[in-house]
Amino acid sequence: MPASPCIVVQCWDDGVTTDARLTDLLRRLDIPATFNLCAGLHDNQRRFGWMHAGQEVWRLGWGEMRGVYDGFTIANHSLTHPNLCEMPGSAARHEIAVGRERLRQFFGQRVAGFVYPFGAVNPAVMAMVRETGHVYARTVESTADVFPPADPMAFHPSCHFQAPDFWQRYDDAKRCGVFYFWGHSYELVDDTLWQRLEALFEQISADPDSRWGDLPELFGG
Ligand SMILES: [Zn+2]
Repeated sequence: MPASPCIVVQCWDDGVTTDARLTDLLRRLDIPATFNLCAGLHDNQRRFGWMHAGQEVWRLGWGEMRGVYDGFTIANHSLTHPNLCEMPGSAARHEIAVGRERLRQFFGQRVAGFVYPFGAVNPAVMAMVRETGHVYARTVESTADVFPPADPMAFHPSCHFQAPDFWQRYDDAKRCGVFYFWGHSYELVDDTLWQRLEALFEQISADPDSRWGDLPELFGG
């Protein structure tokens, strides 16, 4: 009997306009994914965010987000993307709880996941994320033993999608049965990088030892 396939999951942060191109690509290849959003940072129309590698990064408008993310899983990335460890507890709780509630109402999804802004986390923040109804919370710390996490509120991914040792980590992850990568679609600054990502998706899809999954299924959802 072959061992059960390694489950490959992915998530993308920050709700930027390049997510529209990414969800088109994922839909075409029939690949699931989770998108981590900050409900307090979107207007009805697109809104300028910041510069990355000489290019403008814009946030999606509410008016297009149902369409862009249709069929994908939504997770909470706090209300306005502050460093939660550097603010009073009541303010951090507001960021976590209200961020989730707005996403739940807008998308009509359960919103089981959380992603720490800037990866900043401490025990008090972890407790708040747990108490506000999230079942897992992702850090930015790469690990070889993704699953099961020692604490689901400190769920470490395998690596960033542009990690130089991506395929080594991918092979290593088959031991624990889950490979988890993450990124931001605004990091795909030219067509070569988009083509490389598409090739990465196709290589994983073609691997008989793996199958695509989505984050909530790992935690019984
Ligand atoms: Zn972020």
